[in-house]
Amino acid sequence: MAAHATVVGSGPNGLTAAAVLARAGLRVRVLEAADTIGGGVRTEALTLPGFRHDVGSAVHPAALTSPIFRALGLHRVVSWLNPDASYAHPLDRGPAAIAWRDIDRTADDLGPDGRAWLAMTRPLARHINELVTFTGDQLIRMPRHPLTAVRYGLRVLEQGTGLGAASFRTPRAAALLAGAMAHANTWMPSLASAAAGLLLTAQAHAGGWPVPHGGAQTIAEALAADIRAHGGVIETG
Ligand SMILES: Cc1cc2nc3c(=O)[nH]c(=O)nc-3n(C[C@H](O)[C@H](O)[C@H](O)COP(=O)(O)OP(=O)(O)OC[C@H]3O[C@@H](n4cnc5c(N)ncnc54)[C@H](O)[C@@H]3O)c2cc1C
Repeated sequence: MAAHATVVGSGPNGLTAAAVLARAGLRVRVLEAADTIGGGVRTEALTLPGFRHDVGSAVHPAALTSPIFRALGLHRVVSWLNPDASYAHPLDRGPAAIAWRDIDRTADDLGPDGRAWLAMTRPLARHINELVTFTGDQLIRMPRHPLTAVRYGLRVLEQGTGLGAASFRTPRAAALLAGAMAHANTWMPSLASAAAGLLLTAQAHAGGWPVPHGGAQTIAEALAADIRAHGGVIETG
């Protein structure tokens, strides 16, 4: 008889865990307190008829590079809209700084800081899978790709401390990195904010910052379909 597993919460992490357990042959039951699944990745009709809004996450740089989403085949099931501009940082004066998916176009736009931007982000974007493996692994183990880990670690030290202030000559390049770092919701500069910002800028130039067609809820629905296809049940409310 198959073992049972109960997963509490149907956010993307709970659903992913449940999908892995269900695929491993366990009889999985997901218990969700809310009336709908998805947690922070829900889409709801909140305003005008025909409009659906993401109530939490909307843009998913990690989704295309996530090893577990790839293993579950989510990149094939969810339809991704991937704009040419991954993200932008508006400034009080002058045009917004834009992180294009095309790294050379970004560097051209940044003018005098283009070379510094390329030096910082290109090696990380080129080795995005190694970087995602490193940042997703337990940190207290020998990195599987030491060169990428060292490159990233040195940049995190640079940008996470006062040293980073000397990296760029213009506010536009500094803002482009700072905006990504701010996603860590912590002190800036700090090692944690630099780690998040550098990963996000690398993803901006590697897979891009895609939006799921139909809203974030489609990620939750795709995971739920996978769970059910492997015999799992989901109870809401
Ligand atoms: C406003 C906002 C914007 C965001 N934007 C982005 C973005 O653009 N891109 C991005 O990648 N990330 C974004 N995030 C972050 C992303 O939403 C979270 O990282 C993600 O939802 C975390 O997933 P989780 O499964 O850990 O938890 P959650 O998504 O929080 O899910 C937890 C679930 O558990 C349920 N639960 C809790 N306690 C119980 C209980 N006792 N019994 C039963 N059920 C329970 C909750 O109801 C909820 O459904 C954003 C978050 C917010 C809030």
